[in-house]
Order: sequence, then structure tokens, then C-alpha cells
Amino acid sequence: MKTIKVNVVTPNGPVFESDVEMVSTKALSGELGILPGHIPLVAPLEIGAVRLKKDGKTELIAVSGGLLEVRPDQVTILAQAAEVATDIDVERALRAKERADQRLHEKSQEDTDFKRAQLALQRAINRLAVSERRM
Ligand code: ATP
Repeated sequence: MKTIKVNVVTPNGPVFESDVEMVSTKALSGELGILPGHIPLVAPLEIGAVRLKKDGKTELIAVSGGLLEVRPDQVTILAQAAEVATDIDVERALRAKERADQRLHEKSQEDTDFKRAQLALQRAINRLAVSERRM
């Protein structure tokens, strides 16, 4: 089976590097499935999961937005934050979700705080879903 190299990189360093058979994820423009030999592409990513298929197994990575760059032999994901499913601290994500929920229910908040809380909530929900493989 042909493979494509995948690198997931954050400001804290590399999170994942491997050769896989298929990469699928959600770009702002919609779902993307990338096989070896894919045409070059750059796309902004949503907060979501990156699914990596190899040898009949699927590895999940939670990505907090970023940029996807595809070349025929390589996929690079530059993300502000990214965690492989097994590295996700579920308690921390639950606490972050709780905090964001509280902020969203407070009255008389500024728009910027509201948007920030919404994004924090999305990141927490995404981490919980990836850690439970509900993607
Ligand atoms: P928190 O409020 O818990 O910090 P956050 O969504 O604001 O959550 P980020 O700013 O997205 O956190 O990430 C900061 C750093 O902490 C990143 O390196 C990210 O990978 C890591 N991180 C955040 N939440 C978790 C988690 N639940 N499990 C493992 N790593 C996490």
C-alpha cells in the first residue's frame, strides 16, 4: 500500500510524524481526504480531528485549528495546539469545558470574551471527543 508522510507541528515542537495510507480532516471548506499523490494544496483547518489510517488502524489527533499543506508525498499540519488521543488529559479538558460553559452563561459579557469562550469550549469538546474516539 502506498503511503504519504505526515508531520503535525506546533509552536512547542513536533507532535506526530509517520507514513500513513490516508489522512482525513475538516478544513474550513469541508471534509478533506488525502491519499498519496494528492495535488498540492494549502487549507486552513477548523478545530477538529485529524484521522490517520495505516494497516487497518486509525490514529486520531485533536487539532486546535491551523494550516494544512499537502504535497504529493507529504502532508504538513501547522497547528497552534495538537494532541494525539492518548496524550489528552481528560480531566483538564473537562475543567476547560466547565470554565467555558460558565463564561458563556454569564450576563453582560463583551463580544471578544464571548468568542474566546466559544473557541475554548470547542477545543475542550474536540479533545474529549478525540480521547473517546467519538469522531
Ligand atoms: P486549558 O484552558 O486547559 O489550558 P486550552 O484550550 O486553553 O485549555 P490551549 O491554549 O489550546 O489550551 O493549549 C495550550 C497547551 O496545552 C498546548 O500545548 C496543548 O497541546 C495543551 N493542552 C491543552 N489542553 C490539553 C489537554 N486536555 N490534554 C493535553 N494537553 C492539553
